Amino acid sequence: MHADNVTVVAVDYVDVQNCIPQYRVGHESTLRQIAEYVELSQLSDKLTLTGASYRGVSVNDCIYQAHLDVQRLAQTLDTNN
Ligand SMILES: Cc1cc2nc3c(=O)[nH]c(=O)nc-3n(C[C@H](O)[C@H](O)[C@H](O)COP(=O)(O)OP(=O)(O)OC[C@H]3O[C@@H](n4cnc5c(N)ncnc54)[C@H](O)[C@@H]3O)c2cc1C
Repeated sequence: MHADNVTVVAVDYVDVQNCIPQYRVGHESTLRQIAEYVELSQLSDKLTLTGASYRGVSVNDCIYQAHLDVQRLAQTLDTNN
């Protein structure tokens, strides 16, 4: 693209620090430990941990995980009632 006729009026940017989680080596193992803790604390029928920090950072991943979590919680509610 030829840009000779372009006049730059303003340039601005925002550097958003730490906005997308970067998983560390051993992330799967960390997730397992968290799940075990939640289970041992008998919170698994009340608490759901989901979002970009856990199993995928994309919007699609987050929606999919939320969908699975809601299904699981609904099943738990059905079983308990
Ligand atoms: C600049 C940028 C561009 C991106 N582009 C893409 C893209 O093109 N495609 C793609 O798939 N993904 C993209 N991503 C990644 C994706 O958007 C995020 O990973 C995803 O939206 C995270 O979803 P989340 O539900 O985990 O968190 P969020 O969407 O951040 O939701 C967390 C919510 O919790 C609220 N909250 C936080 N603390 C509290 C509190 N204490 N009490 C109550 N509420 C609270 C926040 O206000 C927010 O509404 C992008 C991310 C960034 C930052």
